[in-house]
Amino acid sequence: MAESSSAHLDTLLQHTGLAEFDPKTGAAPVAIPSMRTSTVRFRDLDALDAAHAGRARGERVVTYGRVGMDTHAALEEVFCKLEGGTRAILAPSGMAAITLALLALLQSGDHVLVADCAYGPVRTLDASVLKRYGVSVSYCSGTVQAFEAQRRPETRVLYVESPGSLLFEMLDLPALAQYAKEHGLTMVVDNTWGSGYIYRPLALGADVSVVAGTKYVGGHSDLMLGAVVVKDPELGKKIADMHYALGLHVSADDAWLALRGVRTMPIRMRESAANAMAVCEFLAERPEVGRIYHPAWPQDAGHALWKRDCTGSNGMLSVALKLDHAAARRFVNALKLFSIGYSWGGFESLVQLVDPAALKGHSYWPNDGNAVVRLHIGLESASDLIADLNNALKAAA
Ligand SMILES: *Cc1c(COP(=O)(O)O)cnc(C)c1O
Repeated sequence: MAESSSAHLDTLLQHTGLAEFDPKTGAAPVAIPSMRTSTVRFRDLDALDAAHAGRARGERVVTYGRVGMDTHAALEEVFCKLEGGTRAILAPSGMAAITLALLALLQSGDHVLVADCAYGPVRTLDASVLKRYGVSVSYCSGTVQAFEAQRRPETRVLYVESPGSLLFEMLDLPALAQYAKEHGLTMVVDNTWGSGYIYRPLALGADVSVVAGTKYVGGHSDLMLGAVVVKDPELGKKIADMHYALGLHVSADDAWLALRGVRTMPIRMRESAANAMAVCEFLAERPEVGRIYHPAWPQDAGHALWKRDCTGSNGMLSVALKLDHAAARRFVNALKLFSIGYSWGGFESLVQLVDPAALKGHSYWPNDGNAVVRLHIGLESASDLIADLNNALKAAA
């Protein structure tokens, strides 16, 4: 079989990271097996020396199991194809990938600009680790103007997430990338929402894309994994060196599960997105609904940016309900098809009653007294999900 030259991600996702043919039999399994190992053995010392020399040059070389062998390499290749990068480094969770990227890029005395719509635990990383190591952080609304007001001579990194956590605020990534370039800042984007399929920060000018594979890549709510993806090999070496120093490792079985999941990511995302749109259409007609936060929804404040920069959508949306706290709790408790839980990107629908304390730091939040409920719309029948929401709104009244 010759190699396909298609650049379409739907095709690349099915033809990247396959098992190599056995040179003797000319046969191979379609799906690469989970290659578990701690110890790597070498044919002779020349082979070992070549591996060490490769690592010194910053190449992906295995001398020990921690970096992972063929299964990991296959998944890294898939992340590179998805994100348009040249190097992907795996981490045991999305949060570990964020930590890895920031620790690799920062040192004592540095300052970071962080979009205030970023994933909440980034603030815990700041408070419990970065601060102790002499790195200071400023949280800003995700615009060039707001960042510029907080920039310092020692600012080194611009860290953003688009669309933002909880309210899916779209940021102007190309404008932010231009700004970062002008001031010599390394721009890191949390691209968990897009997962390289519907949004590609590196192509829009970012230096580093971080993805929680836990969400749409894995897709089945049974695995935790993260990846840091870059275009620039120097940056790749920096992150790989930090990965090595921190002793991070992803189980081969988890890399295998992620590879298994990612093949169907396009159809899962498309189906969730279509269901989410049907849910938005239902919600928009309800008197209890104050606002829908979903960039693909035409009335969303970020819709124009979404149309310009994204190639699709997913099942994530938040809805502001004109309900008091007790009624909002009754609504969530009455849902039968939406499990109460964090996370998203799996096959199932989820609901989270967003804590107003978590929204306080988001400048995008109007703080209008409405309860915010975040939904992940899964692969159930959209009409069943809408009937469930309808019943729960009745129960809340
Ligand atoms: C879930 C999530 C993470 C963290 O991923 P884990 O694998 O749960 O550690 C990071 N960023 C965003 C936007 C997320 O939704």
